[in-house]
Amino acid sequence: MSPIDPDNPPSPPPPGEGAFALPAGELRALLHRAADDFCDQLARLDAEPVWQPAPPDVRARLRAPLARVGAGLEATYEAFKRDVLPYRYGNVHPRFFGWVNGSGLPTGVLADFLAATMNSNVGAFDQSAVYVEEQVLGWLRELFCFPADGDGLLTSGGSMANLLALAAARHAHAPALRERGLHGGPRLTLYGSVETHSSVHKAVELLGLGLTSFRRLPVDEHYRLRLDALDEALRADRAAGCTPFALVANAGTVNTGAIDPLPALVTRAREQGLWLHVDGAFGALAWLAPERRGQLAGLEQADSLAFDLHKWLYLPSDIGCVLVRGKQGLERAFATPAPYLAHLAGGLSALSDGAFKDRGIELTRRFRALKAWFALQVHGLEPFERAIRANLEQARELVALVEREPRLELLAPAPLNVVCFRYRGTGAHELDALNRELLVRLQLGGVAVPSQTVLHGRFALRCALTNHRTRSTDLVRLIEEVLRLGAELEREASPLSVVPPAPLT
Ligand SMILES: *Cc1c(COP(=O)(O)O)cnc(C)c1O
Repeated sequence: MSPIDPDNPPSPPPPGEGAFALPAGELRALLHRAADDFCDQLARLDAEPVWQPAPPDVRARLRAPLARVGAGLEATYEAFKRDVLPYRYGNVHPRFFGWVNGSGLPTGVLADFLAATMNSNVGAFDQSAVYVEEQVLGWLRELFCFPADGDGLLTSGGSMANLLALAAARHAHAPALRERGLHGGPRLTLYGSVETHSSVHKAVELLGLGLTSFRRLPVDEHYRLRLDALDEALRADRAAGCTPFALVANAGTVNTGAIDPLPALVTRAREQGLWLHVDGAFGALAWLAPERRGQLAGLEQADSLAFDLHKWLYLPSDIGCVLVRGKQGLERAFATPAPYLAHLAGGLSALSDGAFKDRGIELTRRFRALKAWFALQVHGLEPFERAIRANLEQARELVALVEREPRLELLAPAPLNVVCFRYRGTGAHELDALNRELLVRLQLGGVAVPSQTVLHGRFALRCALTNHRTRSTDLVRLIEEVLRLGAELEREASPLSVVPPAPLT
């Protein structure tokens, strides 16, 4: 034993986890095991049900009260594997087509883990996570041909992106509103089609404008906003003393993937002095396939654009984005000074890149930029382009499969990656009830998960193709199962049919 040198004392032991200390080596071992389990699970996805309901004993355990004494790492991980993991939403599976969800790139999963280890608060200041988010925003601006000096923010999703964009629009038209509130101000109105997403309705309500100030205008037979209806509404509102301030255009409606006539809306917005916001939650990402840009032309001229990276960029949730054309468009609407959050000339609180806390509602923000930064750097842009193109091609294949089959009926045009259809069968049954029950059985069977919508009063099976794991064979599987279940339901509904249809091969 060497004597202690008073000029060079031994370094103190590394900081431990205090009250949360675990037995030596346990955390490391479990992290390795969880990584192995995740990789094994990816390889097994196809053999698992897309979705399954949790049995009553699992539901009971997930309602148990909290214990004072911990169960430990091992037991809790086993409980996760037994009670949580198997009853997931299912959007990691190749045959999940419901609503609009991303499939979750493993590189994004890894980056989310790494981001959690840093535990950064990405509100502002001089730190790497702020540089990374600004870099990702720069990439996205360039991708969508937005000006480099515009404003932008990564958000929890499209809902938040729509809210922030409309707040910026409201501020641009009525800057005094931040001080005065809405009282006694102009009657602000905004415009969009009846197909506009419910998150826009929420945003309008939260902004204090009242839902009726959002004029929900009719669509044409392709579910696109009708310009004649827009012109008429603007005329009527101006005559009535209202102040139109914004136009919400869809680049991919949630129901059918319809794209509003963007070039004409750009012109209208300019002529009428309106802020043009494009909700491109998933549809905007078709921009990555250069041959599809024509379909979305005009999007790059919007005053603001909302889109999700956790939908059609396949990243794990949550990550969305709002881009605003004008310099400080978000900051003017949100920056709120406080001495405890001021930027100093140097040190950690120096202003480095974006003061993200001043561009939105949240102060403490997670490091969601890392998964975009990581996945885009690992893979480069090209595979994203390829995967999006493949999903667009799959939508065409699905339309062809439906149109080829007389027992099925396509219910809407499919200009992008959303396909709506129903089982028609012999046509002798009440089709809404039949398709509703068919969808429930399809989901319970675990073979595929489409979701539903209602189009012109008709219940539709709805598939959104935003999944990088989906293959053409998955679409064939879906159609076979829909036909099998449709026939089964028709047999159950008609006691007279004694001869069951031949089984499908
Ligand atoms: C999903 C979606 C939204 C909302 O986005 P979230 O990320 O779910 O908050 C808004 N608009 C459209 C068209 C969508 O598909």
